[in-house]
Amino acid sequence: MTKDKDRTPVAENVITKCMKCNMELNHVVVANNAAGIVERVKCLTCGSEHKYRPEKKKATRKTSKKSIFTREVDLEKTFETLAQKFKEKKPLPYKISESFKNDDVIDHKTFGMGFVISASCDKMEVVFSDRPRLLACNREITTLG
Ligand SMILES: [Zn+2]
Repeated sequence: MTKDKDRTPVAENVITKCMKCNMELNHVVVANNAAGIVERVKCLTCGSEHKYRPEKKKATRKTSKKSIFTREVDLEKTFETLAQKFKEKKPLPYKISESFKNDDVIDHKTFGMGFVISASCDKMEVVFSDRPRLLACNREITTLG
């Protein structure tokens, strides 16, 4: 394992850019954060203490969890592919109080036939012929009045 500069312990030296001197200089580590990453350093040249900027490029942002409303549907999960795959399956009438599981075929009053591609305890992603939708399921319906 290569030595991780960003994890230099307190009181040890690390070469990093000094904001004041504007040069890569030897600094002593003043503080580490909870994760063991250098947080503050003191320049051994000018004596100024400043925040340490980790060498590592910030981890590229995790692909944000876009909602299914904007996400491109996997080719594997297009309506056509699913319709072909599940053509033998009998659609189950969709009801908010019912629970469904992955690969269930449902029949929705408004949207028509849909394929459950990802079901969790109270919601599920369903691919309909026009686009995928998030539907609630397995919910108690409170009858009013
Ligand atoms: Zn300095």
